Amino acid sequence: MTPQTKYKRILLKLSGEALMGNDAFGINRETIMQIVGQVKEIVELGVQVGIVIGGGNIFRGVSTQADNMDRATADYMGMMATVMNALALKDAFESAGVKARVQSALPMQQIAETYARPKAIQYLKEGKVVIFAGGTGNPFFTTDTAASLRGAEMNCDVMLKATNVDGVYTADPKKDPSAVRYETITFDEALSKRLKVMDATAFALCRERQLNIVVFGIAKEGALKRVVCGENEGTLVHC
Ligand code: UDP
Repeated sequence: MTPQTKYKRILLKLSGEALMGNDAFGINRETIMQIVGQVKEIVELGVQVGIVIGGGNIFRGVSTQADNMDRATADYMGMMATVMNALALKDAFESAGVKARVQSALPMQQIAETYARPKAIQYLKEGKVVIFAGGTGNPFFTTDTAASLRGAEMNCDVMLKATNVDGVYTADPKKDPSAVRYETITFDEALSKRLKVMDATAFALCRERQLNIVVFGIAKEGALKRVVCGENEGTLVHC
């Protein structure tokens, strides 16, 4: 018997770093296959999955400011990095027998479809994983913001932010051993306690659209399935 899932349609935000594994940069095949395996598990439970992928493992626009590069140009390079990750992810899904499509906010018709909301929703309904590349298509934003935007547009039940830490803590668990993970926290509490869940623009959009967020660590085997089944995994940030 398949377990009842809490969510029917999710938006998963994967940072570029999530694909690096223990490497210094780029894409680690074993790591990407581990993530694909976890997504496959929930697709098989009938969950519709949209993914926004970051690009920080290849290029991060903001940091190049130090090199005096024009910020918008650097950001477009960052968005192009997300397209590279999206293609790698799609390839990995296909090798695992999972149907996936890439839609890019930056038109690149030879290699990916251009983002089109109705088509994306149709793919989700067909059980295909939709990988959203190219961020929002605009400089000065992050892929966290792209994730909240696509999550809201796709009418997702929740946004799942996969990170290196397995939730939101009372303090930085790497520095403070007494730090405790929140099982749940409201948007208002997170704001008043100045807990960093996502960047301010992304957080504000989720709050405004009442799109709850679960912050969790995807490195743990089966974590994604536990989250979508509503088990005590990660931190639920709710209205
Ligand atoms: N980026 C952008 N607009 C967007 C999304 C991303 O300009 O809507 C650029 C920005 O330079 C960012 C880079 O793409 O630094 C990679 O995205 P991000 O840092 O969010 O990736 P992650 O940290 O999730 O790997």
